[in-house]
Amino acid sequence: MNCPICNRKADEKYKPFCSRRCADVDLGKWLTGSYAIPAQAIDDENPEDLDDPKHRPQ
Ligand SMILES: [Zn+2]
Repeated sequence: MNCPICNRKADEKYKPFCSRRCADVDLGKWLTGSYAIPAQAIDDENPEDLDDPKHRPQ
């Protein structure tokens, strides 16, 4: 079985995908295609803070 995203050989751990990355790509397509994320949920998280070490969980 080949990865439906990039057509490489699927990994047993991530099948039918070849890697976590391709599984995430597929998930992202599913999310944007049929599942609307409320805008407010995005506003609750401040993406700029994610790069700040002070805001990382210990
Ligand atoms: Zn792949």
